[in-house]
Amino acid sequence: MSVHLSPEQLALQAKAREVAEGTIRARAAEVDRTEEYPWDHVATMKDAGFLGMTIPQAYGGQSKSWLDAVLVIEEMAKCCSIAGRIAVETNMGAVSAIMAYGSEDQKKMAADMVLAGDKPAICITEPDAGSDASGMTTRADKRGNRYVVNGKKHWITGGGVSRLHLIFAKVFDEQGNFEGVGGFLAIRDETEGLEIVRREPTMGLRGIPEAEIAFNDMELPPSALVMPPRGLKKGFADLMTAYNSQRVGAGTVALGIMEGAFDLALAWSEEREQFGRPINEFQGVQWRLADMSIKIAAAQALIYKAAESGADGFPDKMMAAQAKIFTSENAIQVVNDALQMFGARGYSRNLPLERMARDVRMFTIGGGTAEVLRNVVASDLLKKKLPQTRDGYLKAGRTAAE
Ligand SMILES: Cc1cc2nc3c(=O)[nH]c(=O)nc-3n(C[C@H](O)[C@H](O)[C@H](O)COP(=O)(O)OP(=O)(O)OC[C@H]3O[C@@H](n4cnc5c(N)ncnc54)[C@H](O)[C@@H]3O)c2cc1C
Repeated sequence: MSVHLSPEQLALQAKAREVAEGTIRARAAEVDRTEEYPWDHVATMKDAGFLGMTIPQAYGGQSKSWLDAVLVIEEMAKCCSIAGRIAVETNMGAVSAIMAYGSEDQKKMAADMVLAGDKPAICITEPDAGSDASGMTTRADKRGNRYVVNGKKHWITGGGVSRLHLIFAKVFDEQGNFEGVGGFLAIRDETEGLEIVRREPTMGLRGIPEAEIAFNDMELPPSALVMPPRGLKKGFADLMTAYNSQRVGAGTVALGIMEGAFDLALAWSEEREQFGRPINEFQGVQWRLADMSIKIAAAQALIYKAAESGADGFPDKMMAAQAKIFTSENAIQVVNDALQMFGARGYSRNLPLERMARDVRMFTIGGGTAEVLRNVVASDLLKKKLPQTRDGYLKAGRTAAE
């Protein structure tokens, strides 16, 4: 255990484990095979009080900490990656940004929707603007008493099942002057012009859709703008601060998946006999298990510490980045090692290892790639901005040839 957990947190963890080891584990393979969003998992987690736990009590939530949410996400992800991701997205990311920066009406609306079972979608990435989110071309033009939004997003988690959408767009005033990047709230099926275009055929995490979404002259009132207190110019940075919680959450899903794979491998190492003895009597297997456990312990420590760093707000940017990089990269290795320990059986769809290997592969990509997050860590270490655009370097006094 990397940080001290209170008796309440230990009880929460035990409850989450019990819930996850029931129908959530039992249905995980089917959710992957059918590629259908598990509304039954949502209902189970709602009944257990795991949706919107971090929402303040004043809005119907439980005012739980990021670490509380992490404990639940970890247990869910050990049994089913999709349940883990639902726990992330109903406690962190978009909902946490709205609860921090939204108006009273927006907070009430988001809290009610999440507590009723909606997993909000956060729409940032575009076909030509991935790591470089500032290159987005989705725009919101002020026209009288409304904004008109046009553009396209892709790889939006929950596209087609989520109702509440937090959509990022470049905002222009009546004269066409750029004002900054704003986040707008829109509700699918209630907002004309919000179109779910298609679903991505993903490698893993198949129980939750990743979709391309288009905005075609989508009209929104100014009250749909989640206006951070510092105004539009600095507002995007504020909203991105909220995203540090999502990064800790995504890392936690990877942590849970690797722990789930390790538990299977540990048990199998005792059960499987070759050369007349359990395979865990071979030193090669023992050392592999030891290395896997070290990676898990280190990853868990980083995740818990990053979650704790947000006790008075959002998790620290650098700690969240370090935790997500380390956990996502090591989780891929640990799951791969676990699969290897099962021999041919590990390669079969009859066991969950191949599903875990497909699922866990995502976490070095979504929510900021491991490479881009290394830029975040380096920038913090070097105490300077590290512009990635060519003209950014030119502004920093370099020549184009460099
Ligand atoms: C399953 C899944 C779910 C997702 N969910 C969402 C969602 O809900 N909402 C949303 O908005 N987005 C979502 N995304 C998108 C995700 O955030 C982006 O994929 C990610 O930011 C990377 O963008 P890209 O795919 O365009 O890759 P690119 O930016 O094109 O990067 C390609 C490669 O270049 C590297 N690279 C780029 N720039 C640099 C640099 N400056 N330094 C070093 N290396 C660099 C990257 O690390 C990567 O390896 C999701 C993605 C996945 C896979």
